[in-house]
Amino acid sequence: MLVYHLPGTLDTREADLDLLWAAGATGLEERGGVVRAYFDTRTELPPQVSDGEWREEADQDWLAEFKRTLRPVRAGRVTIVPPWLREEVEAGHLPLVIEPGMAFGTGHHATTRLAVESLSALNLATLGPQGTGARVLDVGTGSGVLAIAAALLGAGFALGVDIDPITIPIARENAQVNGVPASRVRFAEGTLGEDPLTFPDEGVDTYDVVVANLYAELHDLLAGEYAAQLVPDGALILTGILTVKLPLVRAALDREGFTNVQETLDGEWALVTARAPLG
Ligand code: SAM
Repeated sequence: MLVYHLPGTLDTREADLDLLWAAGATGLEERGGVVRAYFDTRTELPPQVSDGEWREEADQDWLAEFKRTLRPVRAGRVTIVPPWLREEVEAGHLPLVIEPGMAFGTGHHATTRLAVESLSALNLATLGPQGTGARVLDVGTGSGVLAIAAALLGAGFALGVDIDPITIPIARENAQVNGVPASRVRFAEGTLGEDPLTFPDEGVDTYDVVVANLYAELHDLLAGEYAAQLVPDGALILTGILTVKLPLVRAALDREGFTNVQETLDGEWALVTARAPLG
């Protein structure tokens, strides 16, 4: 890879950038006070940009670099890992293997970790009808990480829904990789909302837990739907909430009769838990 290093920044050398493009640069970027201009071949440059230096650099495999930096993420009793770090999960922790890919939810975002921690703190194995395992609804499932975490933590049945159809096969594959059978975790394109047809009918009337990693404005819109999906006193776990937007979510939960509203903060992100109205 041939790179021409020019002292300065994209701002201070703004007037010279066109000269580099005109000379055949295929790309320009700035790193550490140096403008890097990528070229296919060494070429004669105009005097205005002759204070730089040509360098031959090793090609960088960005994907390999990204994969090298990924670390296991501990969240309650679960450790979320990419497949190649499976061996690094400590004894006693439940491995949740997620292949980093196109769907959101590798565990590396604070909100995913907060939600898995919150699921981990519930006794999912003993909730549900006759204590046979909680029925969990994951709204905005992405990679399926929260529904799969729920199943690994003992939920009897988890349903993950997402409006983005691309996520569904990815989530299904992640469930398979984690050895969770389709009878215990299902994924479907859909959402909660005004049109009941958009919510998949899995033959489950109400859920013991609803978890949703979306955003504050959507939680505000969906708060009534969350209440309708939950059994009385069922557990609601909401995240994807910027701390500045907490009042909006709190007001929505008050409006819908949720009780025991509690917050967990992580930097600019918040997770809110609450109990569904008693009926
Ligand atoms: N649950 C995963 C996690 O916790 O890492 C992914 C969360 S990601 C922040 C939000 C997901 O919600 C995306 O996959 C997006 O397609 C989906 N989504 C956005 N709006 C939605 C809606 N109204 N109903 C259902 N899913 C929605």
